[in-house]
Amino acid sequence: MSLSEKIFKAGIVGAGGAGFPAHIKAKSEVEFVLANGAECEPLIHKDYELMLHFAKEINKGLGLLIKSTSAKKGFFGVKEKNAKVISAIENCSNGKTELTKLSDFYPSGDEYELVYEATGRLIPPAGLPLDIGCVVSNVETLYNIALAEKDKPVTQKFICVAGAVKKPSSFFVPIGTSFNDVIEHAGGMKTKEFGIFVGGVMMGHLTFNLDEVITKTSAGLIVLPKDHYLIKRKNQPEQNWHRIGKSACDQCSYCTEFCPRYLLGYQVEPHKVMRSLGFTKTGAAVWNQMAELCCSCGLCTLYACPEDLYPKEACDKAKAEMGEAGIKFVQQKPVKVHPIKDGRSVPLKQLIMKLKLQDYDVEAPYNSEKIPVKKVRIPLQQHIGTKAKANIKKGESIEAEQMIGKISDGELGANVHASISGKIKEVTEDFILIES
Ligand code: SF4
Ligand code: SF4
Repeated sequence: MSLSEKIFKAGIVGAGGAGFPAHIKAKSEVEFVLANGAECEPLIHKDYELMLHFAKEINKGLGLLIKSTSAKKGFFGVKEKNAKVISAIENCSNGKTELTKLSDFYPSGDEYELVYEATGRLIPPAGLPLDIGCVVSNVETLYNIALAEKDKPVTQKFICVAGAVKKPSSFFVPIGTSFNDVIEHAGGMKTKEFGIFVGGVMMGHLTFNLDEVITKTSAGLIVLPKDHYLIKRKNQPEQNWHRIGKSACDQCSYCTEFCPRYLLGYQVEPHKVMRSLGFTKTGAAVWNQMAELCCSCGLCTLYACPEDLYPKEACDKAKAEMGEAGIKFVQQKPVKVHPIKDGRSVPLKQLIMKLKLQDYDVEAPYNSEKIPVKKVRIPLQQHIGTKAKANIKKGESIEAEQMIGKISDGELGANVHASISGKIKEVTEDFILIES
């Protein structure tokens, strides 16, 4: 069986992003494979801990991917400040990989940034690394690839739980575990009134629901007191940011001047998108197009704007509106890196201060203790593509690692496996409930 077939069977998706099925990348032919260990979301340290404790497996996965894509070389992107991780990676290098040491800025983990730093190449506007002969894989995806080689499917997710919890830590959890169980494993909350950022404060979503579950793409949970600046800032209904933005944006263009995609040479200009708020009857589409190449990193809203407005949210809305209207923006001018890009990079520590997170800026060490989980609710759609179809029935007894959701041949998607042994309690189109 080829590596791509093994990855498909194991149900691997990109663990650090939107959940793109990983077998597609494994069957492409490229020049370079890049391991992305440039974790940059404030307070999330799960990739750091994974690289520190499982460097051998990650390097193995990288070597397998280099081989299956016939790449001539690999790059391992990691922050220069993480000396212990660098030495762990160097101690078990696969011999075909060069380290790309990155500065500690946000968003160094963006694949456009990483590809440029490692190879000097620029991904075409709205394009993929594949367009310039590269494949980028998050370090946890590579870890999963090493397991798939031994026929082990994805049933666990490595996550970081941080913020207002008693024991900030990183650990493996069965997919489908509730946020409540996960937070208890991190010692429980330090606050009664809370909000949880799923996947990080910059790019994740905010929830107050402890029944939500861990999926194949969850990077971690950041718990914060409900009256924290970030919760108030994120928990605004659309009409508020829309109304305030319309009246208070003075077009200073700081949001554009700090935009990492703009600084890399892409035509992203959030200050122009903010103009669209005032053009409600005609003209909005003209300005909305300046959002098309935005990666939703959140820097404009949470760092750059001196008025505390919402240019990132305006860009998200603009992209959705353009999609609905079938408008596709095509960048006309060549992509050219801004001459003062490096001078405008935002250091992570500075971002943490601005976000008022310095009290929570601590390590989240690996906890190898097994989390006691008696019930999991496993979603059938944890990936880009078609939803998996349940291939088991209510009442059946199953073993951990057994396939419970299947993708038909020829469809884009990822198979789903039981993360604990037990009895199937419920099967719907969207999820499977298992109790041990
Ligand atoms: S930084 Fe804020 S005030 Fe300035 S243009 Fe952007 S949204 Fe408007
Ligand atoms: S969220 Fe803002 S800063 Fe980030 S890419 Fe989009 S426009 Fe640029």
